[in-house]
Amino acid sequence: MASVRFFGSALVIAVAMAAATATVVPVGPASAGGPATHAPTQTVSPTHAPPPVAPTPPAAVTTPEPTLQPPKFVAVPRDERAPAPPPATGPTGAGKVMYLSFDDGPHPAWTPKILDLLGQHGAHATFFQIGSEAAQYPTIAARVRSGGNAVGNHTWDHRDLTALPAEGVAAQVTRTTAVIGATRCTRPPMGLTNPAVVAALGRQGQRQQMWDIDTRDWQRPGAARIVDTVVGQARSGAVILMHDGGGDRSQTVDALAQLLPRLTRAGWRLEAIPGC
Ligand SMILES: [Zn+2]
Repeated sequence: MASVRFFGSALVIAVAMAAATATVVPVGPASAGGPATHAPTQTVSPTHAPPPVAPTPPAAVTTPEPTLQPPKFVAVPRDERAPAPPPATGPTGAGKVMYLSFDDGPHPAWTPKILDLLGQHGAHATFFQIGSEAAQYPTIAARVRSGGNAVGNHTWDHRDLTALPAEGVAAQVTRTTAVIGATRCTRPPMGLTNPAVVAALGRQGQRQQMWDIDTRDWQRPGAARIVDTVVGQARSGAVILMHDGGGDRSQTVDALAQLLPRLTRAGWRLEAIPGC
């Protein structure tokens, strides 16, 4: 595990360095709608400073990545970033309630499956959507809301907000809100945050919403492992991090199919994060 943690830390540093040296280009209307806007969510990596608008995106714009390599943009766990924000919500009413959350969607394959499962078990969740993805799949984005789930902002193109000036953070939020609808919660991509980001989000009426239980589902550890992580760390008020986009999320779906009946049988309620 030490080597894994070291790799994770090195990755964090590499990402931060790459981002710090990147030229900041404001999100502009020229990138609206086109496939190029999708590219950053697929290509941000420690070895490539994220181009806001890739002039020649790879062909795989709408297909999930074909390989087993995890998307590098989710490779940064919060606990290796400083400073960690205060955990989540103080749920009102408490009791045995937890809050599922799904990042990086909406996705045409995985999001509907997750919505079906939630509906079958009377559960709700919060979906932190990427604006450019929601723009591509508006009907799925709308279905998320219509099912009584909550929606959060996950920026327009999955940017490292710590690498943006305050105006850039604001642009990421407002452009996404225009597509996904109003929300009071933003989750910084990759968990990359700092006090300036928190302040910039606050000026946009956004609360930074992190998580308490990281399933690391993006690493595809197997559905059983994802289940064990949640069950093993379950506690009242916990926000659970999973992903409905950004790659092959079949393990996430499989894990959810096991988790929902198991948690509800044990008396847990799964609700949307309050106040988002
Ligand atoms: Zn993300």
